[in-house]
Amino acid sequence: MRLTVIGCSGSFPGPDSPSSCYLAEAEGFRLVIDMGNGALGVLQRYAGLFGIDAICVSHLHADHCIDVGSYWIARQFAPDGPKPPIPVYGPPGTADRVRPHLGSGSAEHAYAAFDFRDLDAGELAIGPFRVTTERMNHPVETFGFRVEHAGWRLAYSADTGETGALVRLAGDADVLLCEASYLDDPGNAQNVHLTARQAGEHAARAGVGQLILTHLVPWNDRERSLSEAAQAYHGPLSLATSGLVLGGGG
Ligand SMILES: [Zn+2]
Repeated sequence: MRLTVIGCSGSFPGPDSPSSCYLAEAEGFRLVIDMGNGALGVLQRYAGLFGIDAICVSHLHADHCIDVGSYWIARQFAPDGPKPPIPVYGPPGTADRVRPHLGSGSAEHAYAAFDFRDLDAGELAIGPFRVTTERMNHPVETFGFRVEHAGWRLAYSADTGETGALVRLAGDADVLLCEASYLDDPGNAQNVHLTARQAGEHAARAGVGQLILTHLVPWNDRERSLSEAAQAYHGPLSLATSGLVLGGGG
């Protein structure tokens, strides 16, 4: 399995990365996890425009889902005719959230372009991947994902405040991609995102093999994010960057 970070910028695109988007590949199958603003452009550096087999959306904030609408345009108006629907897994309401606004009839077109499937907490098979979902702690319904293939285990927090569900989801994972939207600061007391230190604490409790901080908001000092996470997590620790490739298993 190979995991490519397409976008890791938090809340909005940054100068060197789109918003959240990750490409998981195994056995020729390509699963896109989240598709935030700007993701569709950079995604084409790593996968053919029509080479995507399925999409998983963690939640319906624009920086995680809105380029599914851009991708709808690409698939619907492809030069050789509309492309067949691919599955899009997401919280209930994903279709209405991402459909492009093209006037009357666009809702039916959106359903034709994609095969929308509502997520729930649990386990499902998507292509060759075993995907486990848990509800995270965020103001809208949000799913974290654990993606496994051939013994390699990746956990992704999506957006979340502190929650034991993330520790469960990431238990013994080889890699935890964990959001770190905040720095230590009393002004960041809202429990809807994690500080880098809290990301480190969750990684330590889950016993993960490696922690990669993501959802990095452009105005944060990244070196501070790293050093604050390092105070709580003592294993291999790094920052996500657009184009970073991870992998393991068969
Ligand atoms: Zn969010």
